[in-house]
Amino acid sequence: MLPSPHHDVAAYALGVLDDEDHEAFERHLMECEECQIELRELSEVPGPLDALRRDRSNSLDDDRTSH
Ligand SMILES: [Zn+2]
Repeated sequence: MLPSPHHDVAAYALGVLDDEDHEAFERHLMECEECQIELRELSEVPGPLDALRRDRSNSLDDDRTSH
């Protein structure tokens, strides 16, 4: 995968970036209109993020019920 900072938009929106990556991406975000637009779209359309969160809580539930 290309080491492009654009790639961190989704991770940033999900809040899963390290402190260092988070800072680096915010610095990039100030200069990158593309990422600002994408971030806005990601926060306005909760669909994909909700699906990710649901996936994660489902697997946690599975873990709990199997114990
Ligand atoms: Zn960008």
